Amino acid sequence: MKIKVDFDLCESNALCEALAPEVFELDDDDYLQLKTDETTPDNIENVKRAVAACPRAAISLED
Ligand code: SF4
Repeated sequence: MKIKVDFDLCESNALCEALAPEVFELDDDDYLQLKTDETTPDNIENVKRAVAACPRAAISLED
C-alpha cells in the first residue's frame, strides 16, 4: 500500500516518527519527511499505529 500524508494537516508533533521511525522523520526545519511511501511486511504494523495515533488524521493508506 502507498503511505500518504496530507502536509496541510500535519502539525509536526512527531507522534508518527515515534511509532514508525523507519518511515517518518522530521527534518531540521520540523517538516515531516517520508523515508518511503510504500508499506512492507516489516513496517506495516508500525505504520498502522502511526495512522491511528495521528491527532490530525493526516496519514492515510491507499491500495
Ligand atoms: S503524527 Fe500526524 S500530525 Fe504528527 S507529525 Fe505525524 S503526520 Fe504530522
